Formats: sequence, C-alpha cells, structure tokens
Amino acid sequence: MTPPRPRPEVLEISPYVGGESTVPGVNRVLKLSSNEGAFGVPPGAQEAYRRTAEELHRYPDGDAAELRRAIGARFKLDPARIVCGCGSDDLIYQLCLAYGGHGRDIVMSAHGFAIYHIAGTYAGSRVIKTPERDLTADVDALLAAVSASTRLVFLANPNNPTGSMLSYEEVARLRAGLPQEVLLVLDAAYAEYIDRPDYDPGIRIVDATDNTVMLRTFSKIFGLGGMRIGWAYGPPAVIDVFNRVRAPFNISIAAQAAAIAALAEPGWVEKGRAHNKEYRAKLTEGLRAARIKVWPSEGNFVLADFATPERAKAADEFMRSRGAITRPVGGYGLPHCLRITVGTAEEVEIVIATLTEFMGSPGQVPGLASRA
Ligand SMILES: *Cc1c(COP(=O)(O)O)cnc(C)c1O
Repeated sequence: MTPPRPRPEVLEISPYVGGESTVPGVNRVLKLSSNEGAFGVPPGAQEAYRRTAEELHRYPDGDAAELRRAIGARFKLDPARIVCGCGSDDLIYQLCLAYGGHGRDIVMSAHGFAIYHIAGTYAGSRVIKTPERDLTADVDALLAAVSASTRLVFLANPNNPTGSMLSYEEVARLRAGLPQEVLLVLDAAYAEYIDRPDYDPGIRIVDATDNTVMLRTFSKIFGLGGMRIGWAYGPPAVIDVFNRVRAPFNISIAAQAAAIAALAEPGWVEKGRAHNKEYRAKLTEGLRAARIKVWPSEGNFVLADFATPERAKAADEFMRSRGAITRPVGGYGLPHCLRITVGTAEEVEIVIATLTEFMGSPGQVPGLASRA
C-alpha cells in the first residue's frame, strides 16, 4: 500500500511561522510580533462588521464591487484593474500558481518576505534568492539572477522583516532591466506608513507598463489583519488571470463591509502614520542608546540586531519573561535579530526599558557574559 503523496517539492516547504500571541503564565501580553497597527480596529469597521451578522446566510458579492469602488476612489485607481484577495498572501499564491510552475523560476532578494518562497515552491518553481547590500534588495543582483526561465520577480517595498526600501528610481531601473515576459510584483504592504518623496508603492510603474502588479493589504495600517483582505492593482491581462483562478467568494461579507468602513474612517491613516513616525524614531533611539544596533526601517517595525543568535535568543526570552512578544527571524536567515513592531506609546516605552535592562545586566543574562 502506498499512501497518498503530494508533489515532492511540497514536502520541502517549511510551514510559515506566524508571530506568537501568548506566553505561558503571563496574563497581559504585549504582542509586538505581527506588525498589526498600534490602534486596534477602526471603530467604524467594528460597527460595519457587527451589522453584517444578520446577512451571513448570504454569499458575499464575488466581485467585491463596492469594495473595489471604494479602493479605487481612495487611491484614484480604476476599479476594473483591482482584484481583492483573502489577504495579500492569497494573491501571492495565485500569482505563483498562475505564472510560476516547473521550469518557471522566481527571483527574490535574500531576506525578502517568506511567503514568496513558500508559494513559489508550492507552485513548482525554483525560487532564487539574491544577495543584498545592508539588508536592502540589490537591483543589480536581482537582474543578474534573471535567466530565460524567469517568470516572476517579487519585491517587498519596504521589505518585511528588514524594513529597507528602494526608491522609485531603483524600482524603475529594476523594471527597465527585466525582460518583457517577467512579471514584476511590487508588494507595498506598508505603503501608507511612508511619506518620503522618493517612494512610490508601485502605481506609477504599473501604469507605465503591462507587466507589473502592485499588492496592498488591509492588515497593517488599516488594522484588519484578522479579516483577511488584500488587493492587487495591475494591467487588465493580470487582473483577468486573477479572476480566472481565484476562489469565487474569496472575501467574506464581513470582510468587505469592514474594509469599506475602514477606508471611510476619518483621519485613521494619518493618525497611524504620524504615530508610527514619532514612535519608530523613539524606539530606534531608545534601543540605540541601550547599545543595540537597529536597522533603518520604513515600516511599522524595526529590526533589532543583537550581533549573535545567542544574544538575540536571550533578549527574546528576557522580553517574554516580561510578557513582551517580539518576532524571532531565524527563519529569514537573521537569527541574530528580532523584529519589533512599533506599538502604542506605552508599549514602546516598555520595550525600551526592558531591553535597556537586558543590555545593562550582562551578569544575569546568558549570552551576554562576554560583553565588556
Ligand atoms: C503583512 C505582509 C503581507 C500580507 O499580509 P496579508 O495579511 O496576507 O494581507 C504581505 N507582504 C508583506 C511584505 C507583509 O509584511
């Protein structure tokens, strides 16, 4: 008897490890492990969600037409060129399955978002990771990895977990250097946090080409990670492909209603962006003052670098013992780092105080003993 077996590449995939949310024995935890916004759920979205309770026997609008209209109005985009997904993760899978496959390579940078590798491998593609400079995607290295077999290039901009960003000029140079038949995917999950003039989430390049797609999400600044809603903006041919392969009712009634209301919440994005700018700087300065290296970040998180895996692990354990959960990123090849979400003012203060204590008491903390 031979048991059912998946395609061999499926068993090469390591399951995605999400941010944890509990610590045994600790009642109140600070969850700073998944880059959820600092302000919870927009009040209007909570109300809209509740109102859907009586309609839940109905199937949702499979086209998410009203939601696409609301996204289009908000971002000044043609709704016909938008497709919604069950989180942008879902859209990443669809792209890999539709454009990848055996003999169709996918290129990403070394510390790029983990789902590209998982979904690409699942699709049957070879996923090639290219070297970075200062934990930042290197356009020349990405271009050098492209061959006649390449069909997809993924770039998270800014990237998770490194926080690094490429300017519009650099992304345009990447697009210009890629062959026509390569679909460039610009994943701008953190776009709303950025107010730099040299940044473009992808809209300009999508509009100027017919082989680039931008991904966005409601999971970060909009505070709806639990609802699972992402969206893509792309050329008509790519949107057509999504609409052929996606699950027909991939966005629930509750998710559609909550997302529409989140877009309408007055001042929500501005408040989140301003808070993030101020407290990301405070967190960065506070940790640097405690002699921890912090990589520059454009997201709602920072990457704290403890120089060795042992010290990062000790810092993680120390934080957990105080109820603060951050994100170990060993799975990203960064075992010496922890990714820390920018939380509320109080949470940022606690993180700084806790890690300052950790750094200042080398005698008590394993892994720090060698530090002078
Ligand atoms: C959080 C994140 C996503 C996706 O999140 P969804 O919740 O699936 O929409 C996609 N890309 C990056 C880089 C992210 O950090």
